Amino acid sequence: MIKIAVLSGKGGTGKTTAVASMAWYSENLVLADCDVDAANLALTMSGRLRTKDDYKGAYIASIDPKLCVECGKCEDNCHFEAITDLKVNAIHCEGCGACQVVCPAGAITMSLRKSGEIFVLDTARGPMVYADLFPGESNSGKLVTIVRRLADDLAESDGLDTVLIDGPPGTGCPAIASVTGVDLILAITEPSRSGEHDLLRLIELAHHFSIPICVAVNKWDLHAGMTREIEESCRRQGVMVVGRIPYDTNVMASIKAMRPLPSMFPKSPAALEFHKIWKEVRSRSKERKGSGLSLKLD
Ligand code: SF4
Ligand code: SF4
Repeated sequence: MIKIAVLSGKGGTGKTTAVASMAWYSENLVLADCDVDAANLALTMSGRLRTKDDYKGAYIASIDPKLCVECGKCEDNCHFEAITDLKVNAIHCEGCGACQVVCPAGAITMSLRKSGEIFVLDTARGPMVYADLFPGESNSGKLVTIVRRLADDLAESDGLDTVLIDGPPGTGCPAIASVTGVDLILAITEPSRSGEHDLLRLIELAHHFSIPICVAVNKWDLHAGMTREIEESCRRQGVMVVGRIPYDTNVMASIKAMRPLPSMFPKSPAALEFHKIWKEVRSRSKERKGSGLSLKLD
């Protein structure tokens, strides 16, 4: 099984368009949308719902009034002001457990609460796992790890040889959870100074974890000079640029129609470039298989 993560230094660079387009050229894969704070791959890769499960990733305190001796210690020691009149405010409670520690009567229990949902869809190109983390909930890295594990399990049970990951933007904990154990990262960037800056941070992350990384420049022709500068930066870092995706009005039309670009405009310039990039990325990830981070998902 090969695992490929598509990432970008920031949102809005065309990462999800790239994933949906590349997925269209493959029939033996599992898709994992690891942007759990704003999953949107399912909007493009529509399909039939296979499973839907609760994600319980956060703790909440509850007070048993029968045991409570009304000493007020829990309220005094809650740094999040989540306890008022011996009642726990579910929105403010961070699940830290301090109130339980200070309670002299053993009246407080901590329990897991539902903080999101995890879905499996059957799309035209294979199963897709994605999650919806409820607003204000934390632990998105943990949820990404669950999505990744489920995608791996599906690949194994369904006999599929590729896991294609749509990663979250940035280089934080969810991005790190998205690339753990992958064979290759494809970074999508755009020809701007900020795009280059974010890309370099992503390359640094990949190098730090010894994960092979390659780059594609989206809408490269909007600023050909900047594209050349980015390619030069990549060369200096020893990173291969595997594609230049041209600005293509068909992309916006396919996003509006909520369909993968190649399913509507298979001969469009951007679709043809995505096809070329996908072939290159697959072949490089097979070559590099096993050379990346050897951490296990747990
Ligand atoms: S678990 Fe932490 S945040 Fe929640 S009520 Fe207790 S002390 Fe406050
Ligand atoms: S610390 Fe325990 S006993 Fe004291 S008020 Fe809170 S729940 Fe009641």
